Amino acid sequence: MVATNASGDTTIDVATLPDPSLAPGQHRRIRDAVAGQVRDSPRHRTRTTLGPDARVLDEARPEPAVEARAPGKDRVRHLLTFALAAGCSGCAGVPGVKLQSGVDFGEERGRIWVRASWEVIKPSTDIDDVVDQLCPAVGRLDRARAGDDGLEYCGLLYSLPDGTYHASVPSSLGLRAHSDRGRHKSCRLPTSLREARAGVTIKADYHSHPWPDAPFTDRDLSSDRQRWSIRIQFDTTCRIFKYEPHSGEPRPGEVFLRVGKSWRLHSIVRVEDKPLGIPTPSLQEVL
Ligand SMILES: [Zn+2]
Repeated sequence: MVATNASGDTTIDVATLPDPSLAPGQHRRIRDAVAGQVRDSPRHRTRTTLGPDARVLDEARPEPAVEARAPGKDRVRHLLTFALAAGCSGCAGVPGVKLQSGVDFGEERGRIWVRASWEVIKPSTDIDDVVDQLCPAVGRLDRARAGDDGLEYCGLLYSLPDGTYHASVPSSLGLRAHSDRGRHKSCRLPTSLREARAGVTIKADYHSHPWPDAPFTDRDLSSDRQRWSIRIQFDTTCRIFKYEPHSGEPRPGEVFLRVGKSWRLHSIVRVEDKPLGIPTPSLQEVL
């Protein structure tokens, strides 16, 4: 079901999409089939570029929101054990850092803006170095790891003309329907970047889910929610996914999992599955 709320966000009921399931042998065939495309794929492309004297990005299209649903209890218990064994700062009981509404992020004319750059993220000439810093930093924020009591955080990654990549502060503003305790969460994607320096090029959006074992939802991957050519998402175990939707192209979208310092192709989103964002195989399957 598609609905539009009072602030103009497009949101979709999260509960009922089918999960594709494949035999194990099919996974390898999928990876083989798309391997050539991945090798040929430009790594970091963008469709949104600001002019030399523009300081604020403010897109005309309605902003999408990214949503998550809590994973099943058994898997949560398993991954909580893993997270505790791995050591975790910002866990339940440790007060998180509160960002300031109106200073770090806010809403203006129905759109979300975020301040940039985020001081705790060290800039780099390699965008993946910036990506690797996001989960620990977001994990220290208020309720970022609090599960059903938690918050999602949404931010942007961008470059400057000197070739460095940066992250914005994230925003926790979500859809009103998900503001209370519950198993559905959302954050509204920022579309306005407050960066004093000129020549900003938005590269990607990023967002967190407040549970362990909570990868991209189908909604996160659906074509009407894509804004830039890269989307980053991570859960409370710092498992990081990247989606390259290849929007408008007759080729599958690609979901990568961060493994060490590399991206491993995990799933594809077939062209015919792009509208609903259904990955093959499911992101819950460990390959
Ligand atoms: Zn999400």
